[in-house]
Amino acid sequence: MNTQPGILDGVELVPADEVARAAIVSVGSELLLGDLTDTNATWLSSRLRDMGVEVVHHVAVRDDTEEFVQTLRWLAGRVHVVICGGGLGPTSDDRTREAVAAAAGVEIDHHDDLEEAIVQKFASMGRAMPPQNARQAGIPRGGRPFPPVGTAPGFALTITDPGPVRVYALPGVPWELKELFHREVAPELQAIAGARATVTRVVHVIGKGESDVAGIVEPIVEGHDAVELSFLARSHEIQVRLTVSGSDADAARAASQPLLEEVIDALGGAVAGLDEEQLEDVVLRLLGDADQTVATAESATAGDIAARLGLVPGASHGLLGGMAVYDTEVKHDVLGVDRGILDEHGPVSEAVTRELARLARERFGADWGVGVTGCAGPEQQNGQPVGTAFWALAHPDGHVEVHTRLLPGDRGQVIKRLGSAALDLLRRRLLER
Ligand code: ATP
Ligand code: MG
Repeated sequence: MNTQPGILDGVELVPADEVARAAIVSVGSELLLGDLTDTNATWLSSRLRDMGVEVVHHVAVRDDTEEFVQTLRWLAGRVHVVICGGGLGPTSDDRTREAVAAAAGVEIDHHDDLEEAIVQKFASMGRAMPPQNARQAGIPRGGRPFPPVGTAPGFALTITDPGPVRVYALPGVPWELKELFHREVAPELQAIAGARATVTRVVHVIGKGESDVAGIVEPIVEGHDAVELSFLARSHEIQVRLTVSGSDADAARAASQPLLEEVIDALGGAVAGLDEEQLEDVVLRLLGDADQTVATAESATAGDIAARLGLVPGASHGLLGGMAVYDTEVKHDVLGVDRGILDEHGPVSEAVTRELARLARERFGADWGVGVTGCAGPEQQNGQPVGTAFWALAHPDGHVEVHTRLLPGDRGQVIKRLGSAALDLLRRRLLER
């Protein structure tokens, strides 16, 4: 392997003034038919981002040699590196070897040592290698074979015309693709790309719309050409994403820090978390700091709020428990909501939600009580439109605040948004203490 970035075996793959650009090609008709989600491409993109390689195309191709060859030719003039996943199996619909060989204009050579390795893999599973698997030992001439971790070998090949482009062929089975990527591709690719890493810092924002957030953040980031800004709207939060490169991950993080702090400052209380730390983590951290506890009584979310908190490692220091009081009778019989309040106001109401929060706090002996009710759809309920939502918080001093809004989205989104609204209210109140 060479030590000079951009050059491999005497071929200049990445000109000195360019950042390495890559494409990911996922192979298999199932991907185009909608039967399979391309998680391999997502995973590879994330690894390449970490390495400072810019992924500029994701392509899915059918099990068709000619279309595959055309794709490789098209990409050869646009990227320095192509990573193919899939199509290395033993059957006639596995076209990767043939397509890469055809695009390079070379023959396929049979490697006896690879066939022996495949025979051994089968033997270790107590099986004889089926005869058709022998074709998996074929590698386009000039390619560097990757001994298999499952039963499919992969390979790397530089195509110079069209090109130059370094093509990596990996099996489609996710665990095999990952292992071979780490073992065979990553070291070589990092040498080609040079010492470079890219990190994305994520600011989680709750309680502001996407355009409001953009209006605050864009002027701050404007003019910082080394920072790529993007916004990602999830069902219950807006993510502000700052992508920065450096000579390694620490340098990239350090380079992003001043701008990140400015962004966090400007967004103020709407910042619900940073990077890996999400709303649930923050709530539990703040509860821990205050040495306080929370309990929930949940109608529309049916326990999802408690479950979300319960996913955080060490949640037991702050989460006492929760009740899913879904049915109207259960609200009375099990939790003890006054029947008169239920009859007068209906189960989805400010008054009942207030009672849920109050009783959650009381029944569990928690410092804070959370209560939620709502109509998540798809049908409206007792004349209340889909998205009707109430969330309440009982404070340590016993007083209860209730909020309401019409939440957008389908059933799953309304449930997530309602839970987040309740958790975010608790976060804000904990911060004010
Ligand atoms: P090989 O793994 O030998 O290259 P192949 O990719 O053609 O062959 P398939 O039979 O198409 O193998 O897929 C094998 C398994 O890998 C399947 O379970 C499939 O779900 C999974 N898989 C293939 N491609 C992808 C992908 N792009 N994303 C996620 N999973 C994939
Ligand atoms: Mg396939």
